[in-house]
Amino acid sequence: GAALAVPDKRVDSVCPYCGVGCQLTYNVKDNKIAFVEGRDGPANHARLCVKGRYGFDYAHHPHRLTVPLIRRADAPPKRGDFVMDPERVMEVFREASWDEALALAGGTLAAIRDTRGGRALAGFGSAKGSNEEAYLFQKLVRTGFGSNNVDHCTRLCHASSVAALLEGIGSGAVSNPVMDVTRAEVVIVIGANPTVNHPVAATWIKNAIGNGTKLVVIDPRRSELARSAHRYLQFKPDTDVALLNAMMHVIVAEGLVDREFIAGRTIGYAELEANVAGYSPELMAPICGIDADTIRYVARLYATSKASMILWGMGISQHIHGTDNARCLIALALMTGQIGRPGTGLHPLRGQNNVQGASDAGLIPMMFPDYQRVDNPAARAKFEQAWGATLDDRPGLTVVEIMHAIKRGEIRGMYIMGENPAMSDPDANHARESLAALEHLVVQDIFLTETAYLADVILPASAFPEKTGSFTNTDRLVQIGRQALEPPGQARQDLWIIEQMAVRLGLNWAYTHVSQVFDEMRRTMPSIGGITWERLERENAVTYPCTQEGDPGTPVVFTETFPRESGRARFVPADIIPADERPDAEYPMVLITGRQLEHWHTGSMTRRSAALDAIEPDPVALVHPLDLAALGGRPGDVVTLASRRGQVVLYARADDSSPRGAIFVPFCYYEAAINKLTNAALDPFGKIPEFKYCAVRVKLGGE
Ligand code: SF4
Repeated sequence: GAALAVPDKRVDSVCPYCGVGCQLTYNVKDNKIAFVEGRDGPANHARLCVKGRYGFDYAHHPHRLTVPLIRRADAPPKRGDFVMDPERVMEVFREASWDEALALAGGTLAAIRDTRGGRALAGFGSAKGSNEEAYLFQKLVRTGFGSNNVDHCTRLCHASSVAALLEGIGSGAVSNPVMDVTRAEVVIVIGANPTVNHPVAATWIKNAIGNGTKLVVIDPRRSELARSAHRYLQFKPDTDVALLNAMMHVIVAEGLVDREFIAGRTIGYAELEANVAGYSPELMAPICGIDADTIRYVARLYATSKASMILWGMGISQHIHGTDNARCLIALALMTGQIGRPGTGLHPLRGQNNVQGASDAGLIPMMFPDYQRVDNPAARAKFEQAWGATLDDRPGLTVVEIMHAIKRGEIRGMYIMGENPAMSDPDANHARESLAALEHLVVQDIFLTETAYLADVILPASAFPEKTGSFTNTDRLVQIGRQALEPPGQARQDLWIIEQMAVRLGLNWAYTHVSQVFDEMRRTMPSIGGITWERLERENAVTYPCTQEGDPGTPVVFTETFPRESGRARFVPADIIPADERPDAEYPMVLITGRQLEHWHTGSMTRRSAALDAIEPDPVALVHPLDLAALGGRPGDVVTLASRRGQVVLYARADDSSPRGAIFVPFCYYEAAINKLTNAALDPFGKIPEFKYCAVRVKLGGE
């Protein structure tokens, strides 16, 4: 329209928000993004959602950090209960040169390492950064700190799914791309709300339905997608294993298993069959709240279709039994042979734009790049040779474990790049106290996040459109994001900052171009060994596994074998484990946290995006209208939500998509940081916290 500026340049890139990985074009005028257009990428075919299309102006927000900052000697003591006021930043921090800031940041970490050992340090990398940034960050921690204490927000989203997938089928990534829903006869979406969290993926699901695919939505919250579903199962929160085992019981009892697939390609079926024998639909119906006939119908539908696909999200993974939930989904696919062909398989919808790539690149405490275990001597020897360093053989601590280790005095210094644990960690008051207790905290970010406020040194970094790198979407599609803008002021590209930190830690690094980092990754990561930087520049996207140059890439995997030692997948039975904290007389309701369409995770970007923030400006709790009426409240009233760990004040919104007794709150609002209430209890396998279930009470009014 007339309001759109005529751009100086158009830069082809990808969206910085979710794992769908939509390709887009930045239209740039005077070093500002004027507008964004969808581009014909494999995952989006020119479609974009509201975040991709309108959520770019955060990069130009006046709150951007443009100068290195050092905490003032006379700054008030670090406190976890800080409410952000970026206008008053200079009361706490002073400006510094890059040299001074890097010398202090790296020098103090090096001093802690030299006096207390490498395990006294930890690093959080970012699932929003590029593959190259993730790779260099973990390499810095492993070779510069000398420990494996490196993790990122995958721990908070799909760590349990990945644990189950690695154990069961030997690979933590998806078997089939989202687009395969258009080739499926039956699609199950469980514990996911794609319309909100993977919006363009949801449009492909709707297109599939238009062409006759039957959609089954299984979720305690009735998502928008449920309206288009052939069947919607509103099961009780926390009863996934009961429901899924009952479905498997039906499939066994009615002889709907794929005997040939089980015999030829799996192990452990007998144990699985014996386990689900005790889970008849009649027994499970009152537990999960779905009648036995519906359980039977959906089990038959899934098992007997020519191609059935399962997509899942945080509703499955964010429980102390998240790994068990995912084990059940894997078993469902294996026992019916619904994997290894187009239109079938298992798709954990990845959240961040590069959470898949950051995990692949080794930003996890128990694995080197490409999921090679740190306690495997052969893998360690390989990386010791590649990196010219002696590496720690002990798996490092995970996100939540690191917060506890700080409290115990075991971890004294941290380097956090592009993550905001003060908002995203469970039991956030505890997490903030831990961050405040560090002797030395270095934060590299684009805004003064709630985490950055607790830093000793803040390194001003680059926003997504200010740098070039590769990013791996939920489909295992490696795509190139290209620099469209110059960083503001003295803000620098993250790759440069990581490298400068490495030098201050005594490492002899000299990468001059992002492609050199990618080349090093190719040499140590067989899954992407065949992808060259030139090919990425030329083709924009290649799906791994791509082991040899010239390989076309592999969108559908496990067609012949599974990447386990035997080549066979493994069934792992699961039994019901209740949530760690159940409602009681004092805290009678259930809290479920998640995201909104307009806001991204801790809100540091989207709440600084004018269009998105205008649509959802205030913290809200979605309460069932009957629960709200029972309190004597009305929509828009202020309510206080409290758990055993903290309380927040926000606005009540009447919303009947959750069952009575369950309250849904997005975790993006710093004024009402809902993770102050959540429970830090962990799944024992994936070490993921139970964000999807804790006990709360609600009352009208503030405080
Ligand atoms: Fe960006 Fe995801 Fe929206 Fe696509 S669906 S435009 S990747 S946020």
